[in-house]
Amino acid sequence: AKKEGKNKVLLYKENIHEDIMWHINMSNKLQKALDNKEFELYYQPQIELSSGRIVSLEALVRWNHPTEGFIPPSDFIPVAEETGQIYGLEQRIFRNALIQKQKWEQKGYRDITLSLNLSSKTLISNMNFRFIESILSEFHVDYTKFVVEITETAAISNVELAIERLNRLKSRGLKIALDDFGTGYSSITYLKQLPIDIIKLDKSYVKSVTDGRRDGSIIKFILSLARDLNLTVVAEGIETSKQLEYLKNINCSLGQGYFISIPQPAEAITEMLSNNTST
Ligand code: C2E
Ligand code: CA
Ligand code: CA
Ligand code: CA
Repeated sequence: AKKEGKNKVLLYKENIHEDIMWHINMSNKLQKALDNKEFELYYQPQIELSSGRIVSLEALVRWNHPTEGFIPPSDFIPVAEETGQIYGLEQRIFRNALIQKQKWEQKGYRDITLSLNLSSKTLISNMNFRFIESILSEFHVDYTKFVVEITETAAISNVELAIERLNRLKSRGLKIALDDFGTGYSSITYLKQLPIDIIKLDKSYVKSVTDGRRDGSIIKFILSLARDLNLTVVAEGIETSKQLEYLKNINCSLGQGYFISIPQPAEAITEMLSNNTST
């Protein structure tokens, strides 16, 4: 038993060492990527379930590494948040997304809302939040068609400050979405604290909506809560026609997921917008 214990300790140490090396390596690669402009924004449509029309787009960052190919955000966003590289990355993301929004507005797609993810680290950092605000001031786009999605709200150390910041965004016309709603990080308590306009129902609920009764009940409960509080609900992670039909039938207003469309580069989205009629 002792021997086994010792091996376990050794293994554990090796894993920690590997974790640290992986982390440092990722952070170095991120720095090169920022310098080499290896990041691109993809956009995933959100449709109005009743009509099938695209009403909004969520910008999602993509990292195309020259030798490793696509590296998923789940691998590098947490590292970037720890190292602080998220700030520079997010400033770039906001600027690029706003340039793209301007282009779409010029093409006549003025009613399409654009949603951007904002790290709660940026939200509560004085300097970096001010950078984001100054980027917003650079562009004269329709900010009533602009949403900031926040997540990992449990990590918000200063709720008062977060509320003040979100209200500052709202005073520019922006709307606030609570991401991954229903998961540990994003739950009902935040609904009464934070000035939220939209809740994004986490994909874990949508996944099993058609095979068990309980997730269906939970979603119906969330929808009625949202109606009472005057919030819009976006169901995330719709992967099947069954899920889509179910959500449509219980009057969920918006939906997003691979079944509707995967995230795509701006040009492909522009093409989709040109055919954006009711189904
Ligand atoms: P999220 O904000 O919850 O974004 C939704 C994620 O679900 C995206 O993953 C999207 O590609 C994926 N998804 C969309 N439809 C489906 C579906 O039908 N089924 C399944 N299983 N997944 C679906 P992605 O792009 O890998 O991003 C992962 C997370 O990384 C995002 O989760 C977000 O928290 C973060 N992230 C992505 N882009 C940004 C960004 O520009 N800034 C910040 N701060 N975070 C970002
Ligand atoms: Ca999101
Ligand atoms: Ca989400
Ligand atoms: Ca998320």
